[in-house]
Amino acid sequence: MKLLVILLFSGLITGCRGNSSHNLPPKLLLVSFDGFRADYLQNYEFPHLRNFIKEGVLVEHVENVFITKTFPNHYSIVTGLYEESHGIVANSMYDVITKKHFSDFDDKDPFWWNEAVPIWVTNQLQENRSSAAAMWPGTDVPIHNTTPSYFMNYSSSVSFEERLNNITMWLMNSNPPVTFATLYWEEPDASGHKYGPEDKENMYRVLKEVDDLIGELVHKLKVLGLWEDLNVIITSDHGMTQCSKDKLINLDLCIDHSSYTLVDLTPVAAILPKINTTEVYNKLKICNPHMNVYLKEDIPARFHYQHNDRIQPIILVADEGWTIVLNKSLPKLGDHGYDNSLSSMHPFLAAHGPAFHKGYKHSTINSVDIYPMMCHILGLKPHPNNGTFGHTKCLLVDQWCINLPEAIGIVIGALLVLTTLTCLIIIMQNRLSVPRPFSRLQLQEDDDDPLIE
Ligand SMILES: [Zn+2]
Repeated sequence: MKLLVILLFSGLITGCRGNSSHNLPPKLLLVSFDGFRADYLQNYEFPHLRNFIKEGVLVEHVENVFITKTFPNHYSIVTGLYEESHGIVANSMYDVITKKHFSDFDDKDPFWWNEAVPIWVTNQLQENRSSAAAMWPGTDVPIHNTTPSYFMNYSSSVSFEERLNNITMWLMNSNPPVTFATLYWEEPDASGHKYGPEDKENMYRVLKEVDDLIGELVHKLKVLGLWEDLNVIITSDHGMTQCSKDKLINLDLCIDHSSYTLVDLTPVAAILPKINTTEVYNKLKICNPHMNVYLKEDIPARFHYQHNDRIQPIILVADEGWTIVLNKSLPKLGDHGYDNSLSSMHPFLAAHGPAFHKGYKHSTINSVDIYPMMCHILGLKPHPNNGTFGHTKCLLVDQWCINLPEAIGIVIGALLVLTTLTCLIIIMQNRLSVPRPFSRLQLQEDDDDPLIE
């Protein structure tokens, strides 16, 4: 009886402890290293990132959204929407109705961002929660009149260390507490453009620097006591492919520049005709065999890139590694923006923390699936989106999931057991039903002999 009371009492205490830690809202840090191509992980060494993955999960390929550019893909990660739905359809945009322009250097007008609600805004609308951001695209813009409670105005000259210091300070000392934070870094994108991803020597150096930054991040979280309770996602917006001076598509050789306005150039050009659209289309159509030319209404459905006023009447999509130019030489040795089905355009995703399994590897998810997963972790109701929560269930400890090889194994195993059982039953039935031949006992002569004489 005494033992029972002790057991009940200790159980009660453990239960209370469990509840109190569950009452703390979950926290999530989303980190992007721009232009981190998925297969860099196979081709270079990343000791710090490998350690991070060993204790967490890895998604080897994230299929991102078309066009595979920085602003559009970062906005898809935090909204779960294709570009035609969130409205950031390129790094350079033009709106015909308002005559407004958007570019890398002129991105602060909320008009461009208000077609969607990013997760940091939704998170902040919850009672007693705030968001923080260190330069994730769009976080310094008042989207639906809301910026994160803590944010930095974008400046590429601010060091990673300063961004990280701010983020960790906000995660530790804010009231209401910061439960969602984002951190953005420009590499390895900048070097991928400059040297091209096939420049092994320079990419080795740059990727080692990126890995060291990941080491710095983990070290800081551990020192500050944030590591165990914080969920951390490290991912990227797109990959990178090698370009060449021998793979140029010069539009000036095909059509007079005065007949159209060029809104965006390469590798996906956005063309706003000044004259008859069909005439411009017909000239571009025969311009170069390494470029697909689409009227807006004919853009393939798989791109999910059609239903938005900011998508221009004609778009040109260069083949992988080809660069569209206007009478100029090759601008960069590496580029992205191409067809999102190309594996060179895909980034990866790694995650660590109490929400994630340890040492689990997954082949692929879509970048739009990240948003519903993040909402689940934070306990937020997601806005309507193009992602599928089910695709990320295998990464999460609180979800039941079964992957394809496991499912095949279970089906084969079940079939084997069923077949064996059926065989056994048939054998048994056969044995039981064999009629025994009836015959009289043959009495032998000495059978009547008494046993004991
Ligand atoms: Zn880039």
